[in-house]
Amino acid sequence: MNTFSLTDIKKKNLSDVYHFIYHHPDSSKQAIASALEISLPTVTQHLSTLLEENLIEKAGQLTSAVGRRAAAYRIIPTARIAVGIEILDKKIYVTSLNLYGKKEAKERYSLHFGDDGLYFDELQKLVKEFLQKHRYREEQLLGIGLGIQGLTSPDGTRVTYGKILGCTGMSIEQFAGYFSVPCIFIHDAECASNSELWENPQISDAIYLSLGQHLGGAVILNGELQNGLTGKSGTFEHMTLIPDGPECYCGKRGCAECYCSGNFLTGSGMELEEFFEKKEQGDHACRKKWGEYLHYLSMLINNLHMVIENTVILGGNIASYFAEEDLAAVRADVLQRSTFQDDVSYIIQGKCRSDAVSIGAALPFIKEFLRDIGK
Ligand SMILES: [Zn+2]
Repeated sequence: MNTFSLTDIKKKNLSDVYHFIYHHPDSSKQAIASALEISLPTVTQHLSTLLEENLIEKAGQLTSAVGRRAAAYRIIPTARIAVGIEILDKKIYVTSLNLYGKKEAKERYSLHFGDDGLYFDELQKLVKEFLQKHRYREEQLLGIGLGIQGLTSPDGTRVTYGKILGCTGMSIEQFAGYFSVPCIFIHDAECASNSELWENPQISDAIYLSLGQHLGGAVILNGELQNGLTGKSGTFEHMTLIPDGPECYCGKRGCAECYCSGNFLTGSGMELEEFFEKKEQGDHACRKKWGEYLHYLSMLINNLHMVIENTVILGGNIASYFAEEDLAAVRADVLQRSTFQDDVSYIIQGKCRSDAVSIGAALPFIKEFLRDIGK
């Protein structure tokens, strides 16, 4: 029996037409038909459907050599948007992405985290304020992702380990009840690596380090994040770096978190921006601390590279402060530690330099839309 029905072919064609225009803006009907090897009437039909649904638009006329003018088509990037939120203890960052995964708007709000209904009530008000301010219509919105400092269940409905914010077991239900679109939690390190993969789609295998106020990580194999049996792959922050070192928030001692996180640099009460400003001004204590940080980071990178010999990407806020000499210092330190005379150019800086968490919290909805269009 032929299980591939005519309807399936139609759906596939519609998706192919959309994706062709997505990647080749200002294409003519003829160009689409010949590139996809489908008939002109079929392309016409799909273009009408996409125009009716306001997913594409006619973008002026293309001039041709024989003097006839053909209409050009392009997608409407804001036909749908996704919202990503980075949840921190005292503030949130809200970002909207268009269908190219590009940032459309970003706002920062002060909001003290609490694992209760009051918090979600305040949070939904701010999200609705954001949507209103930027004039997003309800039917534009694909979903809302909440990037959180904690591990989450595979379906994104629950925080399975949230010691930093003290929210283990927290459910998305209360927040999701305020919206008619899907809402999910996503581990912040996973968000950051999502952003990196989007910016760097050619990455197949890598170890991603999220260097922020807290340390996080991810293992990427065949272009996909490896979650592991219960979602704990890539939690490099809790590998023991120095036996019996200081106490980590997880309750154990000497974790990489204690040495390779922003908290190691700033202590309590200082923001990262302030630390780097002081360091730039030549503050001796800050420069010394930075040297120590790079030293511990090199230890961690060398260890990780022994487990999986692949590219190591330095992402997160702190990586965006890296000067060339910092990267060179890390590479030299790793080389000196390594058992092998490795080419240490495998250590690279991430491409997604800012808002990696809020962007990465929204990206799954964009990817899903692009995958499922026409279905
Ligand atoms: Zn720990």
